[in-house]
Amino acid sequence: MLHDYPESPEEAASNLRLVLQLMGQHDITPNPRNFALCYEYVLARNPSLNRALDGFFAHGKRLDEAASHNLFDEHIAHGTLGSMQRAQDELKRILRAVMLQLLQTGNDFAQYANGLGLHLSKLENDPNIELLREITREVVKEPREIERSSKDSSTRLTNATEEVELLRKELEDARREASTDPLTGLLNRRAFTTVLTNAIAKAQADDHPLCLLMLDIDHFKNINDTYGHLVGDKVLRFIGRLLAQVVKGQDTLCRFGGEEFAILLPDTALHGAIRVAETIRGRLNGSHLRLADSGQLLGELTASLGVACYRQGESVDEFTQRADKALYEAKRQGRNRVHQEFTPLS
Ligand code: GH3
Ligand code: MG
Ligand code: MG
Repeated sequence: MLHDYPESPEEAASNLRLVLQLMGQHDITPNPRNFALCYEYVLARNPSLNRALDGFFAHGKRLDEAASHNLFDEHIAHGTLGSMQRAQDELKRILRAVMLQLLQTGNDFAQYANGLGLHLSKLENDPNIELLREITREVVKEPREIERSSKDSSTRLTNATEEVELLRKELEDARREASTDPLTGLLNRRAFTTVLTNAIAKAQADDHPLCLLMLDIDHFKNINDTYGHLVGDKVLRFIGRLLAQVVKGQDTLCRFGGEEFAILLPDTALHGAIRVAETIRGRLNGSHLRLADSGQLLGELTASLGVACYRQGESVDEFTQRADKALYEAKRQGRNRVHQEFTPLS
């Protein structure tokens, strides 16, 4: 879910300064994870994280690797991919603002320091004006310092900007990695759970239908046993691509684990979800995979699918369990079929 960013570039730049200040103040190692933690802290959008960090700061405890990992998992990565996204978007804005500011400030300081430096050399080259030289030394002492500190702070700011840009990239990679299943490239279960949690909140708020579809490949173990794990992996990738072609728009697909996949269908009623499930089943039946080297046909590829429609008040686990129960029933009734879960409400 995207959020608005009402703050100005100046405010964004000042956030960055606060982050760097905070990290300096508490001697926090500048790595992407800690940066994300401090960034969220400065934004103060995540009260539980702020309380946890305040606890650390109050006791003068050092934010070591383990503590940083725990805080990150608990408050940022786990269940709040949305806020990671926000942090990244904020960073992009900040970087732009800081670069602009750097250019502006750098020029102002350089010009000022240059002007004063010229006056200084003129006066110092005139040996007759002993007194003036004395005075000048005093007067120019400050601008010289300004020049030096301006250069220092410009360099610091440039370094910080480069550092932040690097951190942003690393953060983006880490975020992508944390939410992706490496084999299929699909969303992993953890990221899917976040999407599911948000979708449930939305379905509760607007009372729109929301369906969950669970798919498990039939007798997948046979494929591994007959052709080996590598072929099994290729089949999983193939199914991932096939599902991605069927899933559209606001639907979310993930590899739920092993040879199980899940699809979330917002704004979709039960009959719509069953249609999607039947389409998938049909496409799988119609696929005739062959071994790359020998051209040998792999045999029938089928899957069982369970469909459940969200019931108001249900938790993420309850909803998932009902879809799982439907999948189990599809297996029990003979596989290669779609089953819907409609246990009457007690
Ligand atoms: P069923 O119709 O009851 O679902 O039978 P099944 O053989 O598909 O189910 P079972 O749970 O017995 O076996 C699932 C198999 O999926 C076993 C496991 O080795 C395999 N599997 C899980 N993850 C992977 C993977 O990443 N790659 C490969 N090649 N196989 C995997
Ligand atoms: Mg399974
Ligand atoms: Mg299976």
